[in-house]
Amino acid sequence: MENVDVVIRGGVVLPMKGRGAIDDGLVAIKKDVIVYVGKASKSPRFIAEKVIEGKGKAILPGLVNCHTHVSMTLFRGLAEDQPLLRWLRETIWPLEAKLKPEDIYVGALLGCLEMLKTGTTCFADMYFREDMVAKAVQELGLRATLAPGIIESQNAAQTEKMLEESIIAAKKLHATAQGRIRFQLGPHAVYSCSPELLKRIHKAALRLRVGLHIHLAESEDLARQVKEKYGVTEIPLLKKIGFLGPSVLAAHCIHVSKQEIKTLAKHQVKVAYNPVANMKLAQGMPSIVDLLEAGVSVGIGTDGPASNNSLDMFQTVKTASLLQKIRYRDSTVLPAHQALEMATRDGAKVLGIENIVGTLELGKKADLIIIDLKKPHLLPVHDIYANLVYSATGSDVDTVMVNGKILMENRQVTVTDEEKILEKAQKTAQNLLVH
Ligand SMILES: [Zn+2]
Repeated sequence: MENVDVVIRGGVVLPMKGRGAIDDGLVAIKKDVIVYVGKASKSPRFIAEKVIEGKGKAILPGLVNCHTHVSMTLFRGLAEDQPLLRWLRETIWPLEAKLKPEDIYVGALLGCLEMLKTGTTCFADMYFREDMVAKAVQELGLRATLAPGIIESQNAAQTEKMLEESIIAAKKLHATAQGRIRFQLGPHAVYSCSPELLKRIHKAALRLRVGLHIHLAESEDLARQVKEKYGVTEIPLLKKIGFLGPSVLAAHCIHVSKQEIKTLAKHQVKVAYNPVANMKLAQGMPSIVDLLEAGVSVGIGTDGPASNNSLDMFQTVKTASLLQKIRYRDSTVLPAHQALEMATRDGAKVLGIENIVGTLELGKKADLIIIDLKKPHLLPVHDIYANLVYSATGSDVDTVMVNGKILMENRQVTVTDEEKILEKAQKTAQNLLVH
């Protein structure tokens, strides 16, 4: 007999290690670690502080959102259905210029709450003042990889300040909150940072032993500008300056040639695929199947909540599969099981934390979600992966655990006052528009 903290008994367990599903499974958690995953009938006897009844439910790793700007929840629904540059220039950039650190914190609280309530346990973020996002992550108990965004300003002193502040935040906050918070540096994009600045950021990241998070090959127009300015496209430019490597997380990678895909694979660059934002901003359809065939690791991201407009990964995972089917005119590509794998195991790999989370395995941290299948849109269960990817939404998530701690149970958030966050966020967003 073994003493543990939590036992989840019964239900279908999806470890996401392979295609298998364990009917009438059992997961046992001691402190922050998974100590048993398998058949309930074959498990040792556990004495648990808490037993969760899993019958009629699916238990799987928490979803990993590989690219977002979580504080942009405040801009959700503003100036919709516009061309990308006009939307940025006329609405987003002027509002971002007014953002105070406290606003970024409130936006992050709202985004973290939304992610928690829709089954995302870990996310990668890029934005200003990630120390404020870290505060929200710390409070709500999620796991995150945060990249302070760096954009080259006309004013050199301003750029220096941004770089310096990013380095200070990374130094101070990387590997904090019981290891839940990690940092990267976030050069915004090749079109918004000069090669010299990119080189300096790359060097700083090496020194700090943190990764890099960048937007890459998102827009055809902006890529053309890069080519006109430097004579080469974004990926060869990054290769030339020695920027590419296994700890680079590149968001989008839509407009890439066969040769560029080979370069990404050779340097083991990780890719975040953001299907909903790519469609909404009409940027194009990434060739994910080609990237995967070349051996590139790909995770899934929502992108910012102002260009999605949701942080519900279930919606995005469904779209991830559908967009590839239409991209290749082939209904067999990116099947449900693979899409869910990209949102769990592969997402963890893309963030370099596959040894810690991403699957339900002995010794891994207990980041998991429980989904109630007793719903009209989730029955019958002929194919559990198809139900989760094509039929489920984030609001079907019943219970969420991160690092062994229950953050939501039976849809009741246990770590914060939900009402207060909603009120604060509404007020902050209104104030931003008025003042
Ligand atoms: Zn983005």
